[in-house]
Amino acid sequence: MELRTRHDWRGWAPSGALMFETPDGLKEIAADATLLALGGASWPRLGGDGGWAEHLTSRGIALAPFAPANMGLEIDWSAPFRERFAGEPLKRIALSCAGAGPVRGEAMVTARGLEGGAVYTLSRAVRDRLATEGEAHLRLDLRPDFDQALIARRLATGPLKQSLSNRLRKAVGLSPVAVGLLREAAGVTLPTDPAALARLIKAAPIKVRAVAGLERAISSAGGIGFDALDDHFMLRAVPGTFACGEMLDWEAPTGGYLLQACFATGRAAAEGISAFLAARATP
Ligand SMILES: Cc1cc2nc3c(=O)[nH]c(=O)nc-3n(C[C@H](O)[C@H](O)[C@H](O)COP(=O)(O)OP(=O)(O)OC[C@H]3O[C@@H](n4cnc5c(N)ncnc54)[C@H](O)[C@@H]3O)c2cc1C
Repeated sequence: MELRTRHDWRGWAPSGALMFETPDGLKEIAADATLLALGGASWPRLGGDGGWAEHLTSRGIALAPFAPANMGLEIDWSAPFRERFAGEPLKRIALSCAGAGPVRGEAMVTARGLEGGAVYTLSRAVRDRLATEGEAHLRLDLRPDFDQALIARRLATGPLKQSLSNRLRKAVGLSPVAVGLLREAAGVTLPTDPAALARLIKAAPIKVRAVAGLERAISSAGGIGFDALDDHFMLRAVPGTFACGEMLDWEAPTGGYLLQACFATGRAAAEGISAFLAARATP
């Protein structure tokens, strides 16, 4: 096996050979079979920038447009909240958006909005909601293990001389960042009525301004549609060329599912190549 680094694939030469930009200039390499594994279009700093798309469309292969997937959400925090809480985790919460969720997990407050596992899982629903409705609101359940009535009871029985922040911390176990988030959701003044406060803790509404762009998304949707491939991941329009991984038009949550789908499609395409070469070798 020979590994050639710093070879940037630039499509096909008129001869049909693969064309690469290399430190020694443009080079053509003829191959019996090719497996394209060039990634999606997210986080381009790591190398995969979707630049391959133009080479495939030039061969008549239809691609679904790239869109961010598993991305953070951009939220216009107030300046005091952003300055005090950017970098703080919201632990053991549940997120919903317009019928999607609840997704339990953690989220990280950032200067731009929210990141983290639960956010990424819900981000597709938020992206689609923004695209169809022009706006999207998250509902944050800051105590998913307590029901609303229990929270209201606990808030109602706390010592009245305690500050509201202390009552929220001691009676319901909310962290300072969770209390700050409640204030973001309610406007500056929190309701003092236990029932209204409990309602807010179970479904704090936060307006999402936008989803993070491709440059900061964990993965991308879009790419080569399955119609363009045969059952062995070979491009119908370019016999002998196979594709796998995030180049293909699918999306999945993080947590290993993306890598699993990349490995699985890579393996299936490799088996397709073996069968293709074997069929060619058979007289
Ligand atoms: C920050 C971050 C965290 C992630 N965390 C997880 C996680 O926890 N769990 C999970 O399942 N997934 C995770 N992912 C996603 C996962 O890493 C990707 O889905 C997976 O790596 C995609 O594999 P791939 O082989 O399709 O493409 P890539 O891994 O992107 O590899 C494509 C390669 O092709 C190269 N390339 C692109 N164009 C050309 C060209 N024209 N010529 C030559 N080379 C080219 C690129 O430089 C790159 O090296 C994460 C991604 C990011 C960015």
